[in-house]
Amino acid sequence: MKFQAIKGTRDILPPDSILWNRVEQTACDVFATYGFGEIRLPIFEQTELFARSIGAETDVVSKEMYTFESYDNVRIGHPQEMVDIVRANEAVKEAWANNRIPRTDENCLAIAILHQTFDSIKDEGAPALLRFLHGLHNIDFGQSLSLRPEATASVCRAYIEHGMQTLPGNVKLYYMGPMFRRERPQKGRYRQFYQIGAEVLGQSDAPAIDAEVIEMLLAFFEKAGLSGATLSVNSIGDKNCRPQYIETLRAALLKVKDHLGPDSQRRIETNPLRVLDSKLHEEQAIIEKLPRIADHLCDACRAHFAKLQDELKLRGIAYEINWRLVRGLDYYTRTTFEIVAPGLGSQNAVCGGGRYDGLVELLGGPPTKGIGFAIGTDRLILSLQETGKAAAAKSLDVYVAWMGEKAYAPSVTLARKLRDAGFAVELPPEEMKFKKSLGLADKLGARFALIIGEDEVASGQLTLKRLADGEQSKYSEAALLEHLRAAR
Ligand code: ATP
Ligand code: MG
Repeated sequence: MKFQAIKGTRDILPPDSILWNRVEQTACDVFATYGFGEIRLPIFEQTELFARSIGAETDVVSKEMYTFESYDNVRIGHPQEMVDIVRANEAVKEAWANNRIPRTDENCLAIAILHQTFDSIKDEGAPALLRFLHGLHNIDFGQSLSLRPEATASVCRAYIEHGMQTLPGNVKLYYMGPMFRRERPQKGRYRQFYQIGAEVLGQSDAPAIDAEVIEMLLAFFEKAGLSGATLSVNSIGDKNCRPQYIETLRAALLKVKDHLGPDSQRRIETNPLRVLDSKLHEEQAIIEKLPRIADHLCDACRAHFAKLQDELKLRGIAYEINWRLVRGLDYYTRTTFEIVAPGLGSQNAVCGGGRYDGLVELLGGPPTKGIGFAIGTDRLILSLQETGKAAAAKSLDVYVAWMGEKAYAPSVTLARKLRDAGFAVELPPEEMKFKKSLGLADKLGARFALIIGEDEVASGQLTLKRLADGEQSKYSEAALLEHLRAAR
């Protein structure tokens, strides 16, 4: 049996991983200058968190999530454990709410107990609770969990869970890490892919926040070395104006229904906005004639969008308006934006973002405004590589060619000292003939070979050979460090 990485996943090897590290470090550095702090999030969450925020009808949630049941190992007869699990269990709550659990005195008592802390369960309550819990044998104690397809929902969950609305000013967080979607793998599209994202949560929805987030994003791209990226922005309205626009759009779509493909026909009912996203060649002319959101924004959304554009101009940020930019997740309101980069073929969106006022509230938190973006790290790296910004492997500075038993211990000590001083050092773990050792040094691309035999140990003079031209000289240990530093 031959093991292979699962379809849609891949290994990132050196020297590519050097570029990955550099890109991620650049994000940390740039985001910190804008006052963002890193949040590290779990890789899996309750399925419901994603369903509710991203939208149960979206492709991401309905088709692409990696979902599994997680059974906590409940020991029958350990009441505290059972209580904790039952309390957290949506199935029990739902069964109780829908009268699927008979309202006997004993069950009512048990439910009442479940709402208290276990400490307060009196002796007479415990047996009733236990019988109740045993009686729930037909209720699934497992809960549905999913690998995260994106991280905004998790950030909002964490914002609520940690009461971050009480923090001063806007809460500015960034994250990076793997996301999971069961999509058809192709260039720039993977099932485990990586994102670098940032979110601003708080009381204000000032367009200056949106513009500053975009400014930060572009500053990061510039520092990372990405060139030729273009920014599109749009406003998709809010709960006051979008529903009416969607109805207008649906009515217009129904008139041209017969000329649309099956996906778009279905979306007329499920999510007409998504039709605007269609890449089908034969639908383009039809879509261009559809009513545009810009003509249907309410006054507040129109003013917000106009101010956003002023704020972008103030910052010297070039943009184009793309009225068809609706984004695939349900939670967006008002500002949406996308960045397209060269060298990526049809998977050319390297970053998507937008405003999601109301999402925190939808997840059970206080009324909160929010905006954020997610960069597809894989695509950013691909674009950097295609445009010649790939990282070179970190070169090996010194290869320690030691030979003879007496040379070994001093070589170990010296290798440690050189590494302490920041040099990349290779020390062969077993004795080799000088000729073989130097041959390996050459193949590994070392700049210098340090030759340590028993004579060198006795005299304290080490031979340093520059492998490019074979030039060699003798140095004391102190002089050697000086010389290497100067040659750096
Ligand atoms: P696309 O239209 O390319 O499918 P999306 O709208 O699904 O992107 P978002 O959910 O907004 O993307 O995620 C933000 C960014 O994450 C995208 O712009 C893209 O760079 C990246 N991304 C999304 N899905 C994948 C994937 N399967 N593989 C690699 N990168 C991805
Ligand atoms: Mg997608």
